[in-house]
Amino acid sequence: MSNLILRNPATEDVIAELPHATVEEMDAAIAKAAAAGEAWRRVTPVDRTRLLRRFADTVGAHAEELAELETRNMGMPIGSARWCANAVADTLHYFAGAVEKHTGSTIPVAGGVDMTFHEPLGVVGLITPWNFPMLMASWKVGPALAAGNTAILKPAEITPLTSLRLGELALEAGIPEGVLQVVVGPGSSTGWRLVEHPLVRKVAFTGSTAVGKRLMQGCAEQIKRLTLELGGKSANIVFADADLDRAAAAAPGAVFDNSGQDCCSRSRVLVQRSVLDEFLEKFIAASAAWKVGDPMHPDTAMGPLVTANHLAAVRRYSDGLDTVFTGEAPSGPGYWHPIMIAVADDMEPAVCREEIFGPVAMVIPFDDEADAIRICNDSEYGLSGSVWTRDGSRALRVVRAMEAGTISVNSNSSVRYSTPFGGFKQSGLGREHSMHVLDHYTELKNVFIATE
Ligand code: NAD
Repeated sequence: MSNLILRNPATEDVIAELPHATVEEMDAAIAKAAAAGEAWRRVTPVDRTRLLRRFADTVGAHAEELAELETRNMGMPIGSARWCANAVADTLHYFAGAVEKHTGSTIPVAGGVDMTFHEPLGVVGLITPWNFPMLMASWKVGPALAAGNTAILKPAEITPLTSLRLGELALEAGIPEGVLQVVVGPGSSTGWRLVEHPLVRKVAFTGSTAVGKRLMQGCAEQIKRLTLELGGKSANIVFADADLDRAAAAAPGAVFDNSGQDCCSRSRVLVQRSVLDEFLEKFIAASAAWKVGDPMHPDTAMGPLVTANHLAAVRRYSDGLDTVFTGEAPSGPGYWHPIMIAVADDMEPAVCREEIFGPVAMVIPFDDEADAIRICNDSEYGLSGSVWTRDGSRALRVVRAMEAGTISVNSNSSVRYSTPFGGFKQSGLGREHSMHVLDHYTELKNVFIATE
């Protein structure tokens, strides 16, 4: 198999060349993870906490190095990459602290004692996407290891560099050999092996809905545990009574952050018709202020798209789009796409329904609360969303009616390691983050002991 050639998306320079792991190498990694499992599950909870904390601190000490690597490999602006590197350390700390807190229970029964245990699953396969490489890795590695599993991380083949470095830092921090291995290779062969191999007891996947569906079919064969964090087409709902200045100032970040390559991107901006013109003017002004360019520059708000292929995919949606705003972007080299804002009459096909995964915002006017909810829920996805209003009762009515898993009010920020994250409908299955995720990395065992 030919080597992987990695390019800096901002310059197209080759930054690394590395071999694809073969299926046989993946099998060897799975065998090694299974062998390491017995000792890892017997590490005392306090020692597992200590090891994970040391891992978190080692990551924290290498945050700048990780951030620069992410920016060069993926094109994410350095400010965002620094935030991600520190969030990786924080996530690992959170799950280090969770080891001793994921407790079982005793249940009153007749004739004896009944108790529950959360047992580790064994070897778990963690498959991650290219858009937030190290952050997505930490969302899975943290709970997988905290729960006593051994893990194989299979990062997206185009952005594997920070995941490979996390694997090295884990060893440096004292995580035993075989507990966390990073195996880089194509999804359809190396990644699929995690679905097929009987020693892998669970697959945790973040990626596209299309691949998620394939994995679900594959896992059915062995009733393999599976969690899915998939795509989105989320709604940012702005009511006429909202603080329009705040809503408009926050709207570019909600859709153009990471060049729109964000599963939580609020790429449908639903605006009450009576304030459409006023909001658009403010939204366009805020978007025009975004600096697009060299992702290594600290003032850059938006970098390039990740690859030439992805740029071509985004252009299939944006070429010929009737925009009300098109921003500036470098001409090249690099995979540049400008910020675009367009207005749709209602849920037009493709651009309002499909995940473009680029810096393209579709503004859709609505008449009243019922109309906003109708448009919001008229999507096969249901990952995240926002509501902007000064009416507290309306905010509560709307968030309860929204078919989405991760919602914010008067803010576009809704993802935190300590709160559950995940999607409704075709945006996923299961949750990441918070203590809830540990249930997805363990089996619940019930034991009855007769005392009479
Ligand atoms: P993708 O589905 O193409 O690939 C994701 C991962 O799956 C990669 O590691 C890839 O190698 C692997 N893969 C591909 N085919 C496979 C197969 N047949 N068997 C096993 N593994 C396989 O997704 P992507 O393009 O890397 O990422 C973008 C997508 O991820 C978007 O749809 C985005 O919304 C989604 N995403 C979701 C979340 C979330 O938390 N819900 C977060 C980030 C990204």
